[in-house]
Amino acid sequence: MKCPFCGSNDTDVIDSREVEDRNSIRRRRECEDCGKRFTTYEHIDVGDITVIKRDNTRQSFDRNKILNGIIKACERRPVSRDRMEAIVDKMERRIRAKGTKEISSRQIGDMLVKELFKLDPVAYIRFASVYNDFKSPAEFTAVLKLFKKSTKRKSR
Ligand SMILES: [Zn+2]
Repeated sequence: MKCPFCGSNDTDVIDSREVEDRNSIRRRRECEDCGKRFTTYEHIDVGDITVIKRDNTRQSFDRNKILNGIIKACERRPVSRDRMEAIVDKMERRIRAKGTKEISSRQIGDMLVKELFKLDPVAYIRFASVYNDFKSPAEFTAVLKLFKKSTKRKSR
């Protein structure tokens, strides 16, 4: 990182902290040559992550695609946009934490299903019924039962 005051390349990080609820890190730096201090923000970039689709084609990771899926599933449900964004943030962080450059759309879908399950029953069912492409009504009923069980546990 170049010093913005004297152009020296010798700068030290003296403090790093995560910006709350955002995928960015704020760093205080000090120039070894002129001693001046400045701040930089480092953003987590998941743009370089490739998503492998079911037909084996690849495309760049796009957080808006995930967000749109959530918005669609949560239509007319009492879920705020903030909570939807928070899910995408969480997923981005988790994908990043894997340290991988490639992830399958299946893995992303599985992650999203789990998040929606915790978020809202209707949103979950809407997404899961399309995503899992339930083969039979019995399969769908089994999932419903599972869900009822878990909500019962929660309300106790
Ligand atoms: Zn300097």
